[in-house]
Amino acid sequence: MSVFSEMAELDHEQLVFCRNDDVGLRAIIAIHSTALGPSLGGCRLYNYANDADAVRDVLRLSRGMTYKAAVAGLDLGGGKSVIIGDPSIKSEELFRAFGRFVESLGGRYITAEDMNTTVEDMNRIRRETQYVTGSSAYAGGSGDPSPVTAWGVFHGIRACLEVVYGLPDVRGRTVAIQGLGAVGMQLARYLFDAGARLLLNDISERRLAEAQDAFGGEVVDGDEFYSAACDVLAPCAIGGTINAATIPRIRAPIIAGAANNQLDDEDRDGALLEQAGIVFAPDYVINAGGLIHVAAELHGTPQGRAMKDAASIFDTVKRIINVSRAKGMTTTAASNRVAEERIDAVSRLRRLHLPHR
Ligand code: NAD
Repeated sequence: MSVFSEMAELDHEQLVFCRNDDVGLRAIIAIHSTALGPSLGGCRLYNYANDADAVRDVLRLSRGMTYKAAVAGLDLGGGKSVIIGDPSIKSEELFRAFGRFVESLGGRYITAEDMNTTVEDMNRIRRETQYVTGSSAYAGGSGDPSPVTAWGVFHGIRACLEVVYGLPDVRGRTVAIQGLGAVGMQLARYLFDAGARLLLNDISERRLAEAQDAFGGEVVDGDEFYSAACDVLAPCAIGGTINAATIPRIRAPIIAGAANNQLDDEDRDGALLEQAGIVFAPDYVINAGGLIHVAAELHGTPQGRAMKDAASIFDTVKRIINVSRAKGMTTTAASNRVAEERIDAVSRLRRLHLPHR
């Protein structure tokens, strides 16, 4: 398929190929949509098998960002970038060279951390461009978004509890968390403080011990996570864990966690969950706290405001579940529809020409 056909298929605005042989930079920036505002999305460093894989990935990921920002109610569009290369080989020059390409787009794309890129890398990028978020506080950024992400997930869980049990209270409810990393550990803290009972699952013994020391709770080993007797399964580790093999084992009435791309196959697994009567909070909706955090950084709003905005994920998740029930569609299809409707509505009102902008 030609690159233009691929762009047309997912409806992209712009694809930028960046090369600097002096520093070994080969990067692609995809701007999916700027209908709601400048496109924002992380920069992924990955050793793609070939250029076509890199193009496909950056197109898919940037489109996802458009939907995520739209549902979160932000004035941001969707973008993403990939640097093609070995994640173990990083240099100041590589990221600064990338930063210059980002700067050259004049703000149409704003970059951030993603797979294999760190706060330190964002600090390097920041030396060449103002269009970067997630650098450390001393470099002018707002630092780690995980606490805000976890706060949004906490409120998304409350929304699902209200839909299923009639009340949003977590007190006395049992939540199984898979992945006690930056987000999962903080989520455990919020849930514990609110009176929930926790089931803990991680491949790291150290993290399990740390969580048990802090919150008590029971450890569920490996795959036992899926069949755990609980009210909520919260996948907060990796993607693709909710699939045709795991869904038949799930006993919880709710799946609501931070991990990206939890469904192995969005349509098939979404339908399977619906048939099983399991409420699924779409991951890109419930984990939008991180994006809300960087949006606050961009607009210079205090972080307290980001926490407040992340709490509104409660209303968004409820609205999406209501749309899914009213229209007889999966929650993921419902959130896609909510995103598209907002993009259309804002695009229409922007037809008015403003002479001074
Ligand atoms: P992290 O790397 O800090 O933590 C991941 C945890 O999962 C680790 O403790 C790891 O040991 C554990 N883990 C890995 N594989 C596992 C497995 N098979 N079973 C059980 N545990 C496993 O990552 P994070 O920043 O906490 O992010 C977690 C997820 O949330 C990721 O999917 C990430 O993309 C997504 N997310 C994070 C943010 C954020 O603000 N950090 C925002 C949006 C989405």
